[in-house]
Amino acid sequence: MISRPCSEGLFAEAQKIIPGGVDSPVRAFGSVGGTPVFIDRGNGSRIWDADGNEYIDYVLSWGPLLLGHAHPRVVAAIQEAAAQGTSFGAPTASETELAGLIQDAYPSMELLRFVNSGTEATMSAIRVARGFTGRNLIIKFEGCYHGHADGLLVKAGSGGATLGIPDSAGVPEDYARNTITLPYNDAEATKNFFKKEGKNIAGVIIEPVGGNMGLVPPVEGFIELLARETKNVGALLIFDEVMTGFRVARGGAQSIFGVRPDLTTLGKVIGGGMPVGAYGGQREIMEMVAPLGPVYQAGTLSGNPLAMAAGVETLRLIQEQGLPEALEERSRQLDEGMSEAARAANVSLWSVRRGSMFCSFFQDGPVRNFEDAKRSDTKKYAKFFHAMLDRGVLVAPSQFEVGFLSSSHTGADIEMTVRAAREAFSAL
Ligand SMILES: *Cc1c(COP(=O)(O)O)cnc(C)c1O
Repeated sequence: MISRPCSEGLFAEAQKIIPGGVDSPVRAFGSVGGTPVFIDRGNGSRIWDADGNEYIDYVLSWGPLLLGHAHPRVVAAIQEAAAQGTSFGAPTASETELAGLIQDAYPSMELLRFVNSGTEATMSAIRVARGFTGRNLIIKFEGCYHGHADGLLVKAGSGGATLGIPDSAGVPEDYARNTITLPYNDAEATKNFFKKEGKNIAGVIIEPVGGNMGLVPPVEGFIELLARETKNVGALLIFDEVMTGFRVARGGAQSIFGVRPDLTTLGKVIGGGMPVGAYGGQREIMEMVAPLGPVYQAGTLSGNPLAMAAGVETLRLIQEQGLPEALEERSRQLDEGMSEAARAANVSLWSVRRGSMFCSFFQDGPVRNFEDAKRSDTKKYAKFFHAMLDRGVLVAPSQFEVGFLSSSHTGADIEMTVRAAREAFSAL
């Protein structure tokens, strides 16, 4: 392992004042071991750490940077906005402009509102679903991450449709009880639960392509089943496209499956690297939100002008460059290169790819849900992660996170990455 004295020093300092030295747990390298790399700056597909080492970056701030780091037009848009004032707590034209650009790609979002993170978006969408239906139960799927709001930090008890138990200390069981967790891609469990509790269900929230247990696409017919079942009982279907939005396709997973969710949540890409989330959907449902309706939701910095400017410029560039669809060739090149390198080294790898997202499970597959994903060899993944890092390639510091491509990643970047992977696999 290459030593990184500056990162080590900065991490030691950070740990004295910030819990675990990080502001989000996965950054601490807990599941791969070692000291987190402190980043100094980024440009395009590259980042540089505090020790001056250069890396090809496939984390991309966990998804937002579809254009890569510090795109000159996005930076200029932020600078221009900042010079005019950083926040007003009053409406600005840029909010309507960004909303229009989003709606152009997500026509199901007839009305939409901006918040400051994906967590806020999903939390608010759930509140709207409960307010609209007058019901309490929310169904989520095991292995799907919807941010860290209390009611969504819940996984399954044993046997599928048991009552929710909290995933985190500090979440009251009384509260978690209203979140039911079912196995991803399990049509039987879903149908059974709807049969039993249908009239009590406010909504179903799902990552329509799972991206927080590694990459797990829905099986044929599963999304359609959810659309049917929710409609039958008057519950709302919520697509959490915080990660998949503008990533698996410009119009998100809903454009791929041709299913129109009642509510959609977005984040990550739409903020161009600034803190933004959005939720929206059918007009009649979104009219529940204050000041039009009784569901309260607010934010001092919501629709922040810097964030809106970054989002607007990002979505314009996405339109101009035909993203993320234009990344298909690079994505395929990376996928095939990695798979070939693994085969050559006799390493079991189950590779999955959707749009500009990819994932390599260290196992034979198939991976259809969280249980399957957990069969991966995480120790091997940790070794692979460090072998790649030492060769100048940053992949996610966990087996259960996906990799992201940007429009800045060149064919040469991919070749370098595959070369590094070949060495890393044979070192396993
Ligand atoms: C990242 C993510 C969130 C949470 O977004 P934050 O901005 O981190 O709060 C919610 N849902 C999904 C699917 C995500 O990938």
